[in-house]
Amino acid sequence: MTGHTGRFAPSPTGPLHAGSLVAALASWLDAQAHGGKWLIRIEDVDGPRCPPGIDHMILDQLASCGLLPDAPPVWQSQRGALYAKALAELQQAGWAYGCGCSRKEIEAVNGGGLIYPGTCRNGLHGRPVRAWRLRSDGPRIVWQDRWLGPQSQQLDTEVGDFVLKRADGLWAYQLAVVVDDAAQGITDIVRGEDLADNTPRQRRLQQLLKLPTPRYLHTPLVLGADGKKLSKQNGARALDLTDPAATLRAAAGHLGLSLHARSIAEVLSEGLAAWHDSAHLKQLEERSPP
Ligand SMILES: [Zn+2]
Repeated sequence: MTGHTGRFAPSPTGPLHAGSLVAALASWLDAQAHGGKWLIRIEDVDGPRCPPGIDHMILDQLASCGLLPDAPPVWQSQRGALYAKALAELQQAGWAYGCGCSRKEIEAVNGGGLIYPGTCRNGLHGRPVRAWRLRSDGPRIVWQDRWLGPQSQQLDTEVGDFVLKRADGLWAYQLAVVVDDAAQGITDIVRGEDLADNTPRQRRLQQLLKLPTPRYLHTPLVLGADGKKLSKQNGARALDLTDPAATLRAAAGHLGLSLHARSIAEVLSEGLAAWHDSAHLKQLEERSPP
């Protein structure tokens, strides 16, 4: 085993579909190809959107494809104390502040835009705290994505002060992910490209919480018939597991890996060799410091 640790972190809002398997397979291949560990984290921080039982259905789907974690999975819904500790740290350091604005108020100030205008940075003007936000001023965030290449974002002008704890009391995805990735010792985050634009916010939180910075690799999305990311909304069906090896070969195909083996074990070992040899990854990694 090396220090390399990867993870797959599904939100259990529905069973895995063809798109989510691509990210799961890529993260598994990357961890195995580096002699590392592969972990699973159930991102059920948004409890009301997660129907009961879907988490175990996802674990079963992964197991049917031979994708077994190297340690028992963890559930974000059980980790609130860790998120509270991180928020307290950011509050003490003056980076997190209480926001008393309603969505309507933010839109009104902002001409309907999504970037929070920073209204409560300097005080609540007598209103109660609804949500906690992070001040987004700071250096431009730059990183080398292992699949997408060089990336950068200026948080205050492109994203704005973002939420750490929501008005409904739920923890925001950004904070939970950063705390958990550090707590689980994740060195390599491999996930779908739809999450790439979260990376600068997460890297900023890592800086402010003095946590290690993982490497990132964002995999190409699988598109639905409407040309948008495959999702439950545009008809993504649960994975067809009548022939898991064929389902795995299809997922590998989206990563540019052409596999031909017939059994699950053979597909996975063929996939490992192909991941190692992936021209796309080599080309990017040769010119990138981690
Ligand atoms: Zn506010």
